[in-house]
Parts: sequence; C-alpha cells; structure tokens
Amino acid sequence: MRTTAEIREGFLTFFESKGHLRRPSASLIPRADDRSTLLTSAGMQPQMPYFLGREPPPAPTTCTCQKCFRTPDIDEVGLDTFHLTFFEMLGNFSFGEYFKEGAIEFAKEFMLEHLKLDWNRLWASVHAGDPELKLGPDEVAISLWEKAGMPPERIVPLPSSENFWWVGGPGPCGPDSEIYYDWGEEVGCGEPDCLPGCTRCERFLEFWNLVFMSYELHADGTLTPLPKQNIDTGLGLERTARIVQDVPSVYDTDGYQLIMQWIASRSGVAYGDSEDATKAHRVLADHGRGMTFLVGDGVTPSNEGRGYVLRRIIRRAAQHGLRIGMETPFLPGLADTVIEQMGAAYPELVEHRREISDVLAAEEARFAETLERGMSLFEEAAAHDSISGDDAFTLQATYGFPIELTRELARERALGINEEEYTRLMEEHREISRQTGSVSFGVRLVGAAPKTEFVGYERTEVETAITAYEDLDDGLFQIKLERSPFYPAGGGQVADVGYIEKEGVRADLVNAIRLDDDQELVFRGTGFAAGDRVRAVVPWNVRFPTMANHTATHLLHKALQEVLGDHVRQAGSAVRPDKLRFDFTHPQALTHEQRVEVESRVNERIFENLPVRIFETPLEEARNLGAMMLFGEKYGDVVRVVEVPGYSRELCGGTHVRSTAEIGAFSILSEGSVGSGARRIEALTSGEAFAWLHERARESEELRAELERVRKEAKRPRAETGADFQVVDRVDGVVLVQATALKGGPLRDLSDRLRKQEKADGVIVASVDDGKPYLVVNFDESLVGRGLDATQLVRELGKHIGGGGGGRPTLAEAGGKNPDGVGDALAAGKQAVAAALSA
Ligand SMILES: [Zn+2]
Ligand SMILES: [Zn+2]
Repeated sequence: MRTTAEIREGFLTFFESKGHLRRPSASLIPRADDRSTLLTSAGMQPQMPYFLGREPPPAPTTCTCQKCFRTPDIDEVGLDTFHLTFFEMLGNFSFGEYFKEGAIEFAKEFMLEHLKLDWNRLWASVHAGDPELKLGPDEVAISLWEKAGMPPERIVPLPSSENFWWVGGPGPCGPDSEIYYDWGEEVGCGEPDCLPGCTRCERFLEFWNLVFMSYELHADGTLTPLPKQNIDTGLGLERTARIVQDVPSVYDTDGYQLIMQWIASRSGVAYGDSEDATKAHRVLADHGRGMTFLVGDGVTPSNEGRGYVLRRIIRRAAQHGLRIGMETPFLPGLADTVIEQMGAAYPELVEHRREISDVLAAEEARFAETLERGMSLFEEAAAHDSISGDDAFTLQATYGFPIELTRELARERALGINEEEYTRLMEEHREISRQTGSVSFGVRLVGAAPKTEFVGYERTEVETAITAYEDLDDGLFQIKLERSPFYPAGGGQVADVGYIEKEGVRADLVNAIRLDDDQELVFRGTGFAAGDRVRAVVPWNVRFPTMANHTATHLLHKALQEVLGDHVRQAGSAVRPDKLRFDFTHPQALTHEQRVEVESRVNERIFENLPVRIFETPLEEARNLGAMMLFGEKYGDVVRVVEVPGYSRELCGGTHVRSTAEIGAFSILSEGSVGSGARRIEALTSGEAFAWLHERARESEELRAELERVRKEAKRPRAETGADFQVVDRVDGVVLVQATALKGGPLRDLSDRLRKQEKADGVIVASVDDGKPYLVVNFDESLVGRGLDATQLVRELGKHIGGGGGGRPTLAEAGGKNPDGVGDALAAGKQAVAAALSA
C-alpha cells in the first residue's frame, strides 16, 4: 500500500472487511441544519446527526473518505510544508458498537499489516485527565495501548486542550487518543521534553485521531455518560501518504505530482527553484484542488460566505501563478489536472468538468481585469511607511482586491496596514449592505419539538398546533407546527406566503426556513403561544401560479435540451408566483427561431394535457431512470422524482400541478446573458401569461394603426423621394414592374396603385433601394382561384435575389442580398405566371 489512491481504497476495503458500511464523501457544503462551519472541515462532521441521536445511522459501523476544507488556514498555505486548505480524511465510525478496544485494535492492525509502518516509530497520546471536568487520566486507553504492545514511554498523557474532544458547547464529548509518527531524534529539537505535541520542532507528526465519545457535556459544565458510546476516528490521507512514502512534505507525495509537474511546465519554473517558486507551487497545488472541489460541489464565487472563500483562493492562486510567469487563463487547465489526478475517486469532478472550467475561467478573467488597476493602486499605497485603512478598503471594495492579498503583499515588503481603520470602514460598508439586503433568521427551535409534517403537497389549508414558540425582535416570532402547508424555500422554489389564525387573531408568514426535511416558520403578529390550535393557510391564488411555474420550469429545461443540445444544464432557477426564472449553461444568445421553438415545445406539452406523476425511489434507481439531477444539489438515499411521462423527469422537492394543461399558457418574457457561459430566461404561465399576451396584442393593434397613419403621411410626390418605376412587361393580365428607391409599405402601396391604374389582375414589382433588392407579388382573388399563390411565387422569385419571403396568397413580399438578380426575378415571374395560367 504505497500510493495515495492505494491508501484511500485500502483503508475503506480494510474497514469493509471488518463489517463497516462504506459511505460516499458528503458534499463540502454542510447540511442546512449544520451551522458549525461554512465548509465541511472534518470527516466526522457529516456524521454528527447520528452521534447526536437526531437520525438513525445508516449502519452500526461505517467508514468514509471525506473531502474537507479548512478556511482558517488559507493564508498559511505556501509558507510551510504541511498546511493545506483542501484535504481528505479517512474515518471509521462506530455508533454504539465497538469502543476504545476495537478502535485501537483496528488502528494497530491497519498501520502494521497494511501500511507496513515501523512500530518503533509510532507513539500514542492519551487524555491526562482534567480536574475541572472531574476526570482522571484515561487509564483504559493507556492499558489498551500497553496490551497492544506499545512501550509505556511512548504513551504520552496530554491535557484537555490536546486530547479532549467536544463540539464547542453542550453535547457529546470525550477523551481522544492521537497517533504520532516519529521522524527520528535527529530532526527533533533535542530538548528533554521533546515528545508528541512538542511545539518547538516537527519531529512528531500526528496523523490519526481516535475519539472516544463517552459523555454528554451539560450547560452547567457537568458530564454524564452517554447511553451509547461511540467511536469517531480521523486519519489524514495526505499525512499518511507522506509517512508511507517517506518524503519531506505533503507536496512531495504522489498525490500532488501530476499537479506540480503541470505547474512547472506551464510556468517554466520548478518547485524549489526559488522561495517564490516554492510558495507559488504549493499555493497553486493546494488552492487548485480546493477550487476544483468547491466548484464541483456547487459553490460559485461571490463576496459572501462560501463564495468568498472560493473567490479568495481563486484570486490568491491567480496572483501567485502570474508571479511565476504563467499566462492567463491557466486555472481551467489546473483544474483539469486535478480532475485527471482525482476524478477516479471523485466522479462528481468528471461529471461537472465543464461547469468547473467555465466558473474558474470567468473568475480568472474578472480578476485579471481588476488586478492590474489594483496593483498600481497598491504600489501607490505602498510608497508610504504603511498602508492606510482607507487604501486597503478601497482596494477591496472598489477593485475586488482581497484584504488577504493586500496583507500578504504588505507582509512581503515589511509594511504594516492600519487594520483598525480598515475594519471600521468595512463594518460601515457591511451595515449599509445589511440595511438594503433581506433579513435572515437562524435555526432556533431544533430539538425543541418533533419534526413538522409537511402536508403542502396535498393541501394548502390545515388545522394544526404550534409545537414550539420563541419571540424575536420587531414584532416577529418563530414557531414550529405539528403539520404545515407552508413550502420552505428550496430547489429554486421560493417560500410560500400565507398566515396562521385562531379566534380572530392572525399572523402573516414572513419566512419558512428549510432544515432538510424539517422546517421552522417566522411570523409577524402577536397573540400566539406554544400549544395553540391554529388554522394554517397558503392562499390558493399564490400557490397555484407557483405550481404552474414550477412544472413549466421542468418543461422548459427539457425543451432547451431538445432545441439547443444536451450540454444545456440548469445553473439556477427561481420559481415564484408571478414568474419563473431559469439560468442554464449555453455559450451564446438564442436565435429568434430557437426562442420561438422552445416556447412552442413547452406550449405543445401544455396543450397535450400530460399527467404530472410524482413518486419516491432510491437515488440509484432514479439515476438509472436518467432523471435530471441538479448541479450542486445534495440528495438523500431516497429521492422524489417529478415526471411528465414521455417528456421530463427530474429530482425535485417542489410543488407541481397535477397535469400540464393546468399551466394554461407559457410565454417567454426575456432571454439574456448572466455571464460566464450562462443564459437566463424569464417566463410567465397561466393568468400572468394570458395578461401579458393580451397586453402585447393590444399594443400591436395600436402600433399597426400608428404605422398606417405614418405611411399615409409618408406618401409624397415621386420627384421628392427619388422613387421611380417602369412597367417592363405583361403576361395574361399580370403587370411586371421595375422600381427604384422603394421598399416596404410604399412598395406595397405602389403595387396596389398599379393594379388599379393598369387595370391588371396582378402585379409583380421588383425594386432596388439603398443597394438592396425587394419583391412584391400582388394578386387578385381571381388569380388565386386559378391556382396562383403569391406566397409560393415570391419564395421562388426570392431565390434570384438571394433571399426569402412570405405573406398571404394575395400579397407577399421578399427581400434579398443580390440586387443584380431583379431582372432574372421578373423574367422568372413572367414564366411562372404564364405556365400556371396556361395549365
Ligand atoms: Zn521537539
Ligand atoms: Zn423542480
């Protein structure tokens, strides 16, 4: 077991052989009810609901390889040999099955028989005890290590700060035991107390942490034993590879080699060439992995939260790449290399290769634009003894130049930054954004009441009870209901509006917060309390159009794939009562024809009145059915499928109409770019669509009247306009005319006038205006009765002038590109009329 891939797979196979259920890595985006970190930062984090007893575990013992991202370390990456933001954590978990003895035995067997580590280099730390917690040393762990053959001098007791694990508040907790690898006395500091945990040197590398979840910590600081004792372990994959491969840093392990080689070949500078090169290689390698995985899990760059973490590492990597001479764009190529290295273990990267590339290319380009201006401002600012807070703020707020980058550049030049002034300006700026943004509400009542039963798929009104209540500021209160018809925002569908009422008191819904399959509700009003029986209502005139818009969104998604191609993927959506918005990946604007085609296809499905079928099925089954899964969306083991049989099939938790005819009508309002290879369609359905179409019809009526008026006014004597015409030929009552400087309405008017003037049954007139050729075919009904069709004829004649046209059987016109063809067009017209009328 030598390579990173072998260690990863070997660990999972080993624990499978010990009866553990292998589970896939959870997303880097934590579950909605997990507010502990912005990004998943430990292998055990996705297991917390099982450890807390909120959900039954999928099996009594499991194992995973979890992708993790540590935000606090971003600025440390590159400075040393071990800091990483993105890393993989192997873990085995026991939910009430084996405990300390099993954990230590498994660890020993895996390290010796599979990793083939030298037992003499392994050390174990244990909890030394803590008077504050009324705990003595972890004698059980000590004797288990001794029993395993670890000499007592290599079992090191460490204080709670090192060897006691807790969630940071009341909850499960317990002592842990960490396993260290000893690189040898010669790399140590040589002090007599150089032991695992030594902060002076890097002799000991901690690589496996065994957490013995034993107690529950209460708010008053006391501990009580947990009813079921659990095991949670974390084995760092990169560190383990470094030990097994005996290399000086994680960046020297095989898992990074492809990426490091790519960086060297693109920059022409090798790792280790200079201090700058070494730092840049590490930053690019680590951040390159991080950005690829973040975008792969659906994070997009922004100025807030996870999006800002992504933006920071993209910009930091871009800046370091430029420094060692890489030419933009290079981030998509970097991501491709990461996918090549890691795609086999993480198929989601391969699946989302295109989005990853698009998102990184767009952000890199955006940064390149601002970097140049930002750098010159930074140089100006750096001409002083220190960087003012105002300059640092302007760099960030105006130039998108992250403060971390300013700090890093300043540090390299030994310049200080007025952090106090910067922080003050930033806070003022945030306050302004907050006032203009929307209010958000946290999760407050989890655990205070049982899960709410969502009944909104079947009904919009229900008699129910308030099961938990908490007052908020500003006349708001937050509750949980026993049963709720309110749809909490999710899957692109906005939260319902509605109200609760009892004996004449009523409160309006302000927000419905989704917590996986549970919810919390915020209302504005007074007079309610826990235990109240209430009527909960979503007005039908709000819910119904929302359902119509949601089902139409699915039809639109499919129609776009049919018309534009399979590359079309949903990139975001907003299903509201008044309209729907759908963002999708497509490199260019839709043509008029494509837009019309998409609109017609959706309307055809509506007119066919297809049923909308909704069912639940295992995720694997849905995948086999080819259901469309959304990029960046997390799915459970059992998924809800919304199907319009024979047309669309999507995983979706939203509310839908029962059959497509209920949508009524579908009309596209607008189509435009939202940047980075994505387009946005806004559309209307049902009543809104009808109102909009009606309004357009009225406007075009008015427009037509106005045009008529202008056209009449525009009829001026020939001499003034320079227009001229000449009858060039006749055939069977049809007059052939050559005109100049006329087109459109005036040309059609001329054909009408000539029919009267020449007492002709028909007129074919050709004109050249402003270098462009035009044709009008104007026939009496009698000619149509004899088998002539102006539309058909003008299309044929249009070929001679390099164009096409259309109209009615009695009046049709064409425009083209080839003015030299008008003579031929008239000659062909004469022939066609003669042929038709002699038949
Ligand atoms: Zn030391
Ligand atoms: Zn949906």
